[in-house]
Amino acid sequence: MKIGFDIDGTLERFPALYSLVIKVLRVFGTQIFIITGRSRLDGIGLTNFQMQKWEIPSDHIFLREDYQNFLTPNDYTHNLDIQIGIAKARLCKKLGIALMIDDMEEVTNACKSEGVRYLKV
Ligand SMILES: [Mg+2]
Repeated sequence: MKIGFDIDGTLERFPALYSLVIKVLRVFGTQIFIITGRSRLDGIGLTNFQMQKWEIPSDHIFLREDYQNFLTPNDYTHNLDIQIGIAKARLCKKLGIALMIDDMEEVTNACKSEGVRYLKV
């Protein structure tokens, strides 16, 4: 099973709790995908540092540039959060994510549209 986790507003709120939960999930063979709206440009250093500091292991970390190509010209709006939400949800669908855990309504709304199960925290 594959589970997706957002960082800002999600993992960063209760890192010790998520660290424990994720370690247990991995013991049972669950694949962990970190999917963040952070940009590679300014976010990769901080993200790697935080994952190490918080002891959150994962199978893959996706930053915005890794999935924004799932957007089509029709998806473009003036709201970046809506765009990130749509792109994240499509990545989840492509990866076969069983559950996406995210704090942003724009993401969970898009997950609903794409048929991806989600947990809003
Ligand atoms: Mg978030």
